[in-house]
Amino acid sequence: DPRIQYISDSIRTIPDFPHKGIMFRDVTTLLLDHKAFKDTIDIFVERYRDQKVDVIVGIEARGFIFGPPIALAIGAKFVPMRKPRKLPGPVIREEYSLEYGTDCIEMHVGAIEKNERVVIVDDLIATGGTLGAAIKLLDKVEAEIVECACLVELVDLKGREKLSGKPLYILVEYE
Ligand code: IMP
Repeated sequence: DPRIQYISDSIRTIPDFPHKGIMFRDVTTLLLDHKAFKDTIDIFVERYRDQKVDVIVGIEARGFIFGPPIALAIGAKFVPMRKPRKLPGPVIREEYSLEYGTDCIEMHVGAIEKNERVVIVDDLIATGGTLGAAIKLLDKVEAEIVECACLVELVDLKGREKLSGKPLYILVEYE
């Protein structure tokens, strides 16, 4: 797809953020470029528009940027998965391990019904801990996971292996 190189070129890399030795892939520069942002959304919309997707799940925070325009374009609802204690209603939660300690994501009870077809959207997969937890939450409500969709995969971290065999679609790879 000739659009991918342009999208890739619009993503900025910031060395040593948020810690020394980390190469941070910054998608906010993609958002500054109308063609790059539009092409990104279009590619996902073309992929999911005829797949009977009921729900786009967006992961806090950058899944909230890319998920909603996809949901609107394909006629799906949008469901946010959030960091702990942000959602006001009753939630279900899933913990996952980080390099040091644990983190957790939450989703509103009743937001997704059994057998609804879901695509999970985030900007980037690194270790796969976040998406793996999202998949476990969706398994709890017996949703049908169509695919995980990210702009960027950090392939060396082997995050794909944490996705319980669910497919992952990405636009750009880094080591
Ligand atoms: P994982 O759980 O290790 O796969 O980390 C993925 C989560 O951390 C996603 O929600 C990303 O937004 C965030 N993240 C990790 N590394 C980066 C990066 O280099 N750029 C942007 N987001 C990142």
